[in-house]
Amino acid sequence: MNTKSNTTQYKNGRLFMENVDLAAVAEKVGTPAYVYSAGQLEANFNAYRHALSSVMSEKDFTLCYACKANSNLAVLSLLKNLGAGADIVSGGELARAIAAGVKPGKIVYSGVGKSEEELTEAIRRNIFQINVESEPELELISKIAVKLKKQVTVSIRVNPNVDAKTHAKITTGKKENKFGIDIKKAPALYARAKKLKNIHAAGVAVHIGSQLTSLAPFRRAYVRVAELVKTLRRQGHDISRVDLGGGLGITYKDETPPDLYLYALMIRDVITPLGVHIVLEPGRSIVGDAGVLLSRVVNIKHGDAKKFLILDAAMNDLMRPSLYDAYHAVLPHREKGKKAVYDVVGPVCETGDTFLTNETLTELKAGDLVAIMTAGAYGAVMSSNYNTRPLAAEVMVKGKSFELVRKPQTVQDLVKNDRIPAWLK
Ligand SMILES: *Cc1c(COP(=O)(O)O)cnc(C)c1O
Repeated sequence: MNTKSNTTQYKNGRLFMENVDLAAVAEKVGTPAYVYSAGQLEANFNAYRHALSSVMSEKDFTLCYACKANSNLAVLSLLKNLGAGADIVSGGELARAIAAGVKPGKIVYSGVGKSEEELTEAIRRNIFQINVESEPELELISKIAVKLKKQVTVSIRVNPNVDAKTHAKITTGKKENKFGIDIKKAPALYARAKKLKNIHAAGVAVHIGSQLTSLAPFRRAYVRVAELVKTLRRQGHDISRVDLGGGLGITYKDETPPDLYLYALMIRDVITPLGVHIVLEPGRSIVGDAGVLLSRVVNIKHGDAKKFLILDAAMNDLMRPSLYDAYHAVLPHREKGKKAVYDVVGPVCETGDTFLTNETLTELKAGDLVAIMTAGAYGAVMSSNYNTRPLAAEVMVKGKSFELVRKPQTVQDLVKNDRIPAWLK
């Protein structure tokens, strides 16, 4: 995904998303606020479609958008209209996908700890596939399927023991990670599945991690998956699907993620010869660069050695810098002016509440507007109420108009569910 095509850019010295001046959004809904570009979401989704369509027929793959990256109903609904299915990791995300109108026949359910209630709901809805992570889960699915008189198609998520070379907290495909079944032990599980009632293990699933900026680990994992498919077929299993997991990494600072067409060519080389239906579950690369977190400067604090730019957005709104040491560029709404060097921080009482250190920006003063960039993925969905801070508004821009797609919380929303026990009164 190249940032040059990004729909958030300066126009006449002011920061715009598509044809909307971001100052108008801040004025209308307040700050902090997440803002998403419909045009960028569409471009990102279509980039996957076109790249895959260049090497295979449209009916041979399903793009199941990974809802956990951003599950706002407006985002899901926009992607659904473009033909996306959904990759979900909880009953909550199943409800969101259904509410957004995603067809159950295009929903894939991943995750290492699905509860009996969650599985029951997914099976009742006849979703496309459940990605199984363990033998007890396989048995539980069979039990529920028998009870509901349903046939359930599953894929078994294997752990190929490949180092994704990404941040440790988002690496999932090494043998010490909690995800998937050791690929060497997978044949035994397919054999077990064959003996269980109302279950058909039709696929192999793999997901080795997120924010991968090189194709090599993907290829290594897919080669192992292809070998497994051949082994399973020799053992008499009817394998008709392969789920290749999440999408490519994106550019936050200076990363150069692989070209989508090269990715598609690699899939054609390694997977297409198997003659299987391919599922991809991109999340970050669909929404990441389509979103910004708008924030105003609360004030500027001159420390002994540093100038702190204190924003009204904080780690509770965007957790990635404190959780993953992630870099998110900050763009002042006003492009030009004298420069100054800042540490950009939030108001939360944690030293980890720091967005950037020693960053050169256009000089800012209290009340000025900035955009924290590339915040569309794993941003709003990971936000919390820490420090009793209400969740921010979410807005979607389309062309020259914009609309609130999630009302901001109020402090009252946060306090109203607490109870003081009678003995304290
Ligand atoms: C998180 C996740 C994804 C999405 O990964 P991205 O890097 O955001 O594309 C896809 N599949 C599974 C199983 C996941 O856990």
